[in-house]
Amino acid sequence: MKLKKGDNVMMMSGKDKGKKGKILAVFPSQDKIVIEGLNLIKKAVRARKQGQKGQIIHKERSVNAASAALICGACSKPTRIGLRLDNGNKVRICKKCNAEIK
Ligand SMILES: [Zn+2]
Repeated sequence: MKLKKGDNVMMMSGKDKGKKGKILAVFPSQDKIVIEGLNLIKKAVRARKQGQKGQIIHKERSVNAASAALICGACSKPTRIGLRLDNGNKVRICKKCNAEIK
């Protein structure tokens, strides 16, 4: 997987299609990512003690990495990620404008 924690991505499919967010976590073995504020599920939290109120919280659920595209910081477009060798280091680049992705 070429996506990393902290990358800004846009959902390309599903109910959050077109929405943007930052990657909070990546799960390479499952090819899944968690995006801040996207693919939220409602979770009811029950009151544990008397007098305490139960509440509903929203929590991000992981999505397939393939359904999100990285947003390039240079051209601000959702793009595919390419790789370039730079002094022996693999550098991620935007396939649209060839800028390095930081
Ligand atoms: Zn670009």
